Amino acid sequence: MKTQAARATKRPTHRSEGGRARLERDALRFLASYEVQLIDFARELVATPSPNPPGDERDVIALSRERLAALGYKNLKSVAIEAARPNLVGEIVGGSPGRVLMLNGHLDTKPAGDRTEWETDPYDPVLRDGHLYGLGAADMKGGVAAMVYAGAALGQLDVPAGSLKIGLTADEEAGSHFGVRFVAHREEFSSDAVLVGEPTGMKSGWAYVAVASRGLSCFVIRVHGTQMHSGLSDQVDSINASVKLAGVLSRMAGEFRPSRTQDGGAGGHVTVNPGVTLKGGVYFGVYPGEAEFGVDIRTVPGMTLSGLKADLEVFLERLRREDPQLVVTAESVAGLDWMPPCSIEPGHALVATCHWEPCRPLRMDRFGPRRGFPAFRPSDRVPCLPLTGQTRTSQSRTLSLPPASTPSRR
Ligand SMILES: [Zn+2]
Repeated sequence: MKTQAARATKRPTHRSEGGRARLERDALRFLASYEVQLIDFARELVATPSPNPPGDERDVIALSRERLAALGYKNLKSVAIEAARPNLVGEIVGGSPGRVLMLNGHLDTKPAGDRTEWETDPYDPVLRDGHLYGLGAADMKGGVAAMVYAGAALGQLDVPAGSLKIGLTADEEAGSHFGVRFVAHREEFSSDAVLVGEPTGMKSGWAYVAVASRGLSCFVIRVHGTQMHSGLSDQVDSINASVKLAGVLSRMAGEFRPSRTQDGGAGGHVTVNPGVTLKGGVYFGVYPGEAEFGVDIRTVPGMTLSGLKADLEVFLERLRREDPQLVVTAESVAGLDWMPPCSIEPGHALVATCHWEPCRPLRMDRFGPRRGFPAFRPSDRVPCLPLTGQTRTSQSRTLSLPPASTPSRR
């Protein structure tokens, strides 16, 4: 769970504890009655491929739009830069105008890779031992399904003021050009605060509330050599660009550590991924005159693009000094040059609400710490917690409905 806020808010207050408890009980009753539907919706989303790249969210957005309409969401609207990359927004409107909270999730996934490597088919969701398995179940079609039904539960209640929007976006996995970078400027998607339902926790569910999101900065490292007939390589003074590139790639993986000008306060660490793309040579028989690899760097608060470029240049200059034959350059990738890291005050009212409010319905003492950055699961699965105990699989964990009189933990 990641949080962002457009402006500071006070700690939320409720008109009365009794009223709040009633609202909570009614919302949980609604969710319990729709539990099977909710899980089925998550399964349908997983079974609707939306790998990115290449990126095409039409089917998964159409499925979501149909569900939002059926659940009573108003003001449904799809917006897109290109037809194949739609985003969707819907709204639960309160009794009078007020502040707007958006629940946000993306509907694209990483590519499945080699499907034979999966224990179960990535697009054939499996419910086992209380978890839903499939590509995107954790990141983040399961979260999207949960948010869609959470909003629908609110829609059944007497919401006094303000509204809740659900914003479902494209292209999160490949730079967000068609997704949040686009919709952030659209009036339909405007809100006072955004709660992003991304998964957190590598080892357990409900691990923590993430108060920061790392940024992204991508470069192409290119090495130049001597293109010629490969049969002459042992007779002519020449430079094999691919071999030189292999050395740069290996050195970068082991040695390159970007600096940060200040501690951004949210913790977290920088990740450097050299070789996310790799290209070199022309064909057999041709000595390679050019080779390149891509590196993506996950940035944290306290870093800047100019600082990162300077660090990279210092590193490459050291390699050039060590090897006078090395001709190497670094170039930012258009559109992926700099997505800034962002964070929210851990003490912000929205963070506090996310930290404490799930505890009672989930029967937890605390919802993990409030801390830096989300970590993603190595296996794509998401826990399904039945609210009523009347599940269709005996293996699912059960969570009984709390009595309305249970005091909230603060
Ligand atoms: Zn995600």
